Amino acid sequence: MRHIDTIYINGRFVTPHGTELFDLHNPATAQVIGQVRLADAEDARSAIAAAKRAFPAFSRTSKAERIALLLKMHAAITARRADLLEAVVEEYGAPISRADFMADHPADVLSNMARVLETYEFTRRAGTAEVVMKPLGVAGLITPWNSDAGFICGKLAAAIAAGCTAVIKPSEMSAIQTQIVTEALHAAGLPPGVFNIVTGRGHEAGEALCRNPGVGFISFTGSPQVGQIIQKACADNFITCTLELGGKSPTIILDDADLARAIPLALGAGFMNSGQACVAGTRILVPRSRLGEVEELTKAAVGQVRSGDPRNPETTVGPMVSRKQWDRVQRYIRIGIDEATLLVGGEGTPDGRDGWFVRPTVFTNVRNDMTIAREEIFGPVLSIIPYADDEEAIAIANDTIYGLQAYVLSGDKDRAQRVADRIVAGRVLINTLAHEPMAPFGGFKQSGIGREYGTFGLDAFLEPKSLLGLHAA
Ligand code: NAD
Repeated sequence: MRHIDTIYINGRFVTPHGTELFDLHNPATAQVIGQVRLADAEDARSAIAAAKRAFPAFSRTSKAERIALLLKMHAAITARRADLLEAVVEEYGAPISRADFMADHPADVLSNMARVLETYEFTRRAGTAEVVMKPLGVAGLITPWNSDAGFICGKLAAAIAAGCTAVIKPSEMSAIQTQIVTEALHAAGLPPGVFNIVTGRGHEAGEALCRNPGVGFISFTGSPQVGQIIQKACADNFITCTLELGGKSPTIILDDADLARAIPLALGAGFMNSGQACVAGTRILVPRSRLGEVEELTKAAVGQVRSGDPRNPETTVGPMVSRKQWDRVQRYIRIGIDEATLLVGGEGTPDGRDGWFVRPTVFTNVRNDMTIAREEIFGPVLSIIPYADDEEAIAIANDTIYGLQAYVLSGDKDRAQRVADRIVAGRVLINTLAHEPMAPFGGFKQSGIGREYGTFGLDAFLEPKSLLGLHAA
């Protein structure tokens, strides 16, 4: 049993003012594996005060100093890779193949931001004016459970690069991963107050951040419902915020695609992170003329997908993170059985084992107005939606409140690009599942506001200030 009874404020591990104890689970066994004492609104206020005190000096550090800090943080997180990997498997249930990425990613985002900073121009010219990019102040960073360390480090990297100080409010469900990250970042030796971590409830510690006029910027990743609450809370004090929210990403298989390659890619996009990914390709759009072939290949391929023990190297779909998440996914499977045709999978757990496992499930002959095609399920449940021609495929792809990511699979790259150009989404991946850390990431429509990663991600933590009179007309 792990007992986590400290939070991190002003460079020290301290006992929270909050007293609520929250159970941590291993989702593969449904057993309690630890307990965390949660921070409350008072703790969030103490953390904001520490970050405010640290801001004047930190905002004046040079680019070289901040690059050096990011590289120290990268080294410190890398040194804890083995612990992070173990925590990601135990506390989140990530299959080893995914856990490897999740253990590398938090260190990578730090070194990537150091690279961005090297060439970033903080001072620019606009006519006769000199424009200086200034940090927005104390940044509140609010993150979800589905990539705890990656989101903490990614948002903190941008804050540090910009010269902001930070208060991080991670999900209460991933406290073991957060503890490892906190210990590593503490070892990196940042000045006290530059980053603070308050693991607590969203409506307490999280909301206290969004409602505090001492905070200059909120960077949030999570559900659209909470995103909306956060934006409203920020409005009271005119706090700028970026929101990275949900998705219902389309995977368009064009009629010239080699299905032997396209189907594994489409399923890889759909079952990514055990289906608990905002970018999961959950609507697979297929030409009606090839529906039979697609169904046959999909059924065979999903039959080979192993959902189970995350420590088995052959497993690609791990358990859902919580009982609540498992119930939610089961409810959507029941809705799908009522409104569409079940191709493979279904209700219940594979092999009836303990733990919050879901049977990888695909529905076919789904219409885009059905619930399973419209709402984000956040589990390994996919919909095959037939279309008549490219025009209809594009129309279906865009007929959603979301616009985070899309996939286009085709034998003809130029044709795929023409289709991709018309998809309303922050990212479109053509014949690939690769990630590009320098490219902006974020959504159109209700998938969010603003962008993360690369120079666009750094811009979000900064505000331009113009100096006039320095240069002749
Ligand atoms: P969530 O929205 O419930 O919680 C996210 C974070 O917000 C948590 O730290 C939570 O404690 C906090 N929070 C909750 N209520 C709050 C409030 N009133 N004020 C301030 N903070 C509050 O999301 P989740 O269940 O942790 O994660 C799943 C969701 O996140 C999915 O909808 C998924 O699509 C989305 N997500 C989006 C991205 C992206 O980059 N677009 C990435 C991963 C997950």
